[in-house]
Amino acid sequence: MYEILSNIEGMNPPISIIDLANSIELTDHHCHGVEKTNLERADFEIIATESDWPEPNGMTIFDSPVGIMMRAECSGFLGLPKHCSPDDYFERRYELGQNKVTQLLLPATGIKTFLIDSGAPPVNTGAEVRQESSAFSHNSITTFKEMAEITPGTSAYEIVRLESVAESIAHKTSAATFANDFAAALATAAVHALGFKSIIAYRYGLDFNPARPSEREVVVAAGEWLEATANQPRPRMNHPVLLRHILWEAVDYGTAIQFHVGYGDSDIVMHRCDPTQMTEFLKMTVDSGTSITLLHCYPFIREAGYLAQVYPHVYLDTGAAAHWTGLSSATIVAQSVEMAPMSKVLFSSDAFGLPELYYIGTLVWRRAIGSILDKWVQSDGLGYQDAVKYLNWMANDNARRAYRLLPE
Ligand SMILES: [Zn+2]
Repeated sequence: MYEILSNIEGMNPPISIIDLANSIELTDHHCHGVEKTNLERADFEIIATESDWPEPNGMTIFDSPVGIMMRAECSGFLGLPKHCSPDDYFERRYELGQNKVTQLLLPATGIKTFLIDSGAPPVNTGAEVRQESSAFSHNSITTFKEMAEITPGTSAYEIVRLESVAESIAHKTSAATFANDFAAALATAAVHALGFKSIIAYRYGLDFNPARPSEREVVVAAGEWLEATANQPRPRMNHPVLLRHILWEAVDYGTAIQFHVGYGDSDIVMHRCDPTQMTEFLKMTVDSGTSITLLHCYPFIREAGYLAQVYPHVYLDTGAAAHWTGLSSATIVAQSVEMAPMSKVLFSSDAFGLPELYYIGTLVWRRAIGSILDKWVQSDGLGYQDAVKYLNWMANDNARRAYRLLPE
């Protein structure tokens, strides 16, 4: 059904850009695993939003932009009429079971290559960590290897979350050995990781001091952090000096580093997640060999587009923003190609847990980018061959360049 575009010259008559966008294989450069247990209604309602709270007053997430899209676009896969009721949708979904719904929807996304954020908190729903009392556990989420197994012919790679690596050594390190222990743990993780991810936006803000901390500062900071978290079963890496230290350690690898930007759950302070607040860090890493990929970016998509134009190692996507905004997502995808060079825009679903989010994330991006490029071609502002090339870049090749992922 989905295919890599090749031999465009041989297409006669040429396929419309809209049809191509609907049928091209995708490289999803940032997403998470799928939930494996059959979710109860309350759990489904909370995983289908970034809010930490259920809809108030007995209302339902099915009346949010993403819920409306589920009932319109996923219902057919479940054997339901379009625009079915929330109760009918959920009842059918529950009856089929989570894994069956995943088997129906995930192959329909056309994602050929998954780059999976394997951040390992016990509870995680997409952008960040949920409250520990939540019903979801890490063990019920597919690993990156299991993701590839769900759809034959796909491949999956791991993106390692820096803060998770630091948290994994908390109970077996000391202030004096933290730097060495973290370096060793990161080296082990890097053996099988395609890139790293930073959630410094969550743990501090993107207005962090860009300077690399000195060895002495790291020892002092590690002492403070270990003391503050000594009694926590799962220490949370939130020390501003150590957050910078682990980031710079990742820069040394010269691979890609993903940054959570903008939109996220109630754990973020939105105005501190504007990516222009890390401009100085971007300046300092221009020649590092690292690709910086800005994730989600909502509502700072124009700011991210500006950074992607000015700094050669910066890329952006509209993952999560696209599926959460549903019918309004075309505006957001359009902003991603306002300013950034076509070689800097990436596709991601940023889906987590629900197979519906992978399907809707791909569907709305395909529709939006197809419509935008087609409009440009129809107005004769863009040549057809260039439009096909740019579509291919954004769907696959830009991610392959940013992550140095060789064609299969
Ligand atoms: Zn994510």
